[in-house]
Amino acid sequence: MKILYNEPSPLETRVLSRRFGLENSERLDTYLATGGFEAFRKALEIGPDQIISEVKTSALRGRGGAGFPTGMKWSFVPRNHPKPRYIIVNADESEPGTCKDRLLMEYDPYQLLEGMLIAGIAVDSRKGYIYVRGEYRYLITHLERVVEEAYSRGYLGKNVAGTGFEFDVYLHSGAGAYECGEETALLDSLEGKRGIPRMKPPFPAVSGAWQSPTLLNNVETFSAVPHIILNGGQWFAGLGTPKNGGTRLVCISGHVNKPGVYELPLGYPMLKAIYEVAGGIPGGRKLKAVIPGGSSCPVLRAAECDLAMDYDSLAKAGSMLGSGGMVVMDETTDMVRAALRIMAFYQHESCGWCIPCREGTAWLRKMLARLDAGIGTPADIDLVGELSKNMLGRTFCALGDAAAMPTISIVEKFRDEFEAKLQSYAAAGLVQVG
Ligand code: SF4
Repeated sequence: MKILYNEPSPLETRVLSRRFGLENSERLDTYLATGGFEAFRKALEIGPDQIISEVKTSALRGRGGAGFPTGMKWSFVPRNHPKPRYIIVNADESEPGTCKDRLLMEYDPYQLLEGMLIAGIAVDSRKGYIYVRGEYRYLITHLERVVEEAYSRGYLGKNVAGTGFEFDVYLHSGAGAYECGEETALLDSLEGKRGIPRMKPPFPAVSGAWQSPTLLNNVETFSAVPHIILNGGQWFAGLGTPKNGGTRLVCISGHVNKPGVYELPLGYPMLKAIYEVAGGIPGGRKLKAVIPGGSSCPVLRAAECDLAMDYDSLAKAGSMLGSGGMVVMDETTDMVRAALRIMAFYQHESCGWCIPCREGTAWLRKMLARLDAGIGTPADIDLVGELSKNMLGRTFCALGDAAAMPTISIVEKFRDEFEAKLQSYAAAGLVQVG
């Protein structure tokens, strides 16, 4: 048995991660011995319309962060277009707190390839790309071996699995830019240009890679597809809650006894995930806050965490399920420092294309650094909140919102911690300058 990132929990519902831990789980023989490519054959039998219908019924929503209904996205790709259609896997997993696509590619890469093949049948595409995060370069070597094995054994190329279906897969490494996880920036980067977002519309479904119709989804989204085709959309939908089908690989990190990636059905109680699946908080300390789905999500206070983890429940609570990166913070957490750390990340990753994000993140980082040091006045706390709100919806892509939303929530919910820093600075007899 392989040493995994974490020990599995008996509380998990393991669908996409069911092969994790098997001997040679990444090899084709293991995949074939455990039901691999049965969904692909079934997909060829049922054809494009039925595939898309099953994906729609499954209530699968994009696992990269936005949560857009996958079946609907697939139905937007014109199949009778004169240009070729492309299948693109967004493996630019960069959201702080998120590390589940890495495991899917490392431990079950054929599941991802089979999902791509089924997508290829659905939109009549013959070419797919896997765009891998620059920092995951070791995975490129691993995936190269997998793709090579798939070609040499006839599971990619001109006659996939002897069915006559043709499909090629190419790997592409990013260069370490968070921004390239944004789908249109990813497309520019894939085409060899600077990775900055494109004006939308047109959306990639109609004009994506090389101005051709392009189906772009996250690794986890494609990895769910073979299970949907094999077991039916209804079955997958039934695992979760209404409009939130299936399971989610939740990456639980921070102040928990058993951090790790756990596959849980959509709608799983957040407190149960923290206290039972991830083993609770070390030293019996109290929960202070949770970032539910990656650092771009508004923070929840402990009192707000008694909820179901699905897209709609999190939205109702004023946050997001995002990319599944749950960061647990106990009572010892310095929330001003947390806000500063998050902003430092977004300022570093801002592509600089539009002014509200480029200048806003830089100003906010400086102001948060001053407040973290206890320098400033209560009016500066208000200013951080106002500046963040002014960024919301005024930037070219969602990175501006990603930087603003956690900041707004921390300032509103933990203002007392900002004030305490200012007071301790004054109490130390230090004089505010400027
Ligand atoms: Fe670039 Fe930020 Fe503008 Fe997005 S919001 S285009 S990352 S500067």
